[in-house]
Amino acid sequence: MAQPQSWEKRAEEYSFYGFTDLPSVHQRGTVVVTHGEGPYIFDTNGKRYLDANSGLWNMVAGFDHQGLIEAAKAQYDRFPGYHAFFGRMSDQTVMLSEKLIEVSPFERGKVFYTNSGSEANDTMVKMLWFLGGSEGQPQKRKILTRWNSYHGVTAVSASMTGKPYNEVFGLPLDGFIHVGSPHYWRFGEEGETEEQFTARLARELEEVITREGADTIAGFFAEPVIGAGGVIPPSKGYFQAIQKVLKKHGIPLIADEVICGFGRTGNTWGCQTYDFIPDAIISSKNLTAGMFPMGAVILGPELADRLDAAVEAIEEFPHGFTASGHPVGSAIALKAIDVVMNEGLADNVKRLAPRMEQGLREIMERSNHIGELRGVGYMWALEACLDPATKTPFDGDLSVSERIANTCTDMGLICRPLGQSIVLCPPFVLTEPQMDEMFDKLEQALNKVFAEVA
Ligand code: PMP
Repeated sequence: MAQPQSWEKRAEEYSFYGFTDLPSVHQRGTVVVTHGEGPYIFDTNGKRYLDANSGLWNMVAGFDHQGLIEAAKAQYDRFPGYHAFFGRMSDQTVMLSEKLIEVSPFERGKVFYTNSGSEANDTMVKMLWFLGGSEGQPQKRKILTRWNSYHGVTAVSASMTGKPYNEVFGLPLDGFIHVGSPHYWRFGEEGETEEQFTARLARELEEVITREGADTIAGFFAEPVIGAGGVIPPSKGYFQAIQKVLKKHGIPLIADEVICGFGRTGNTWGCQTYDFIPDAIISSKNLTAGMFPMGAVILGPELADRLDAAVEAIEEFPHGFTASGHPVGSAIALKAIDVVMNEGLADNVKRLAPRMEQGLREIMERSNHIGELRGVGYMWALEACLDPATKTPFDGDLSVSERIANTCTDMGLICRPLGQSIVLCPPFVLTEPQMDEMFDKLEQALNKVFAEVA
């Protein structure tokens, strides 16, 4: 009798993988996950992993939060699905919009729902294009973002993303322009202070605006802390400096808070941590603590008013997704906001972030091959370096960060290789002993791989 195929083989035979290093999967097999407990996941062999990536940054309440599961079940019992078209909308969606504006940095505003962060960025771009057209400035279409940023994978949001891998799709589309990344350690010039570096980025932004023509630029999008580009907090004074330039030229600043929003940086919003108020916020991931696919565009008062006026003029905004404002997603989001903000999860991040920084700093100090520790709250990266003194990276062919992440996985710790850095963004429920487990396994993996390659 034929042997049943393993989970790993079945996964490879029938599933098409995204963002996955295939040779590594062929060699190591797929981790097929069955369930989770707090910050841990379990595979089909019963092996337990501490997921220091929170899934994809999003499972902030852990993998089995009962309050969230109960909120989902209750809403499935009550009203399991609806839309937000044609003047109809679920009561949960109404309540969620009120809540989002209440917790936003805006004194008033409006919310539009999507299924993902990519779609929320696309939606915001379409809103800006729609505004340009209806305000007599149809040429106002260019979108500015930064190199190294991540904004998603749809044709528009991938065009916004500042990563060379999108070249395989012939992206970016015309009119998507990337400016400098605020990574002082990597891009600061010899003898340049952090303040001078920030001032240079603001000057370069203004040069791009002048070159392109301010009246052709629809908006500037930025993650408060660049996430999937390698956890890059802004250089000192960055948002104040660039917002001044953008305001001068009448260009809206959109904060892509898909990762930073709802507690990741220690405050409700990343823009609060870095002390600026954007014109709109893009939210997803933590919005439902990863338990339902949902994204939101949260418009501040000025953009909300201008869009309202523009829509009134032509009677409708011809855009929306079948599941926009799904009642179950909305109920989960309402509960997730409560759990994160009022049941101690965000407080846990605030309280334990210094401990996380300290533990990682000690690991860096004991190692000869970590060039930089960077991050905030519960999002950190350690940059592997052949020679930290000269910031010389390892030979790319050595795949150092991938080897570290694979060694961690073997030991039951999931962390993410990004460039030559190792990213740690654990669920907010992570306790002190679990943090110590993370430090121990990570340090063992670093020592093992550095002994092999250096
Ligand atoms: N913006 C940011 C800042 C993100 O980190 C991501 C996802 N990692 C996205 C947008 C895209 O979100 P999604 O994967 O839900 O489309």
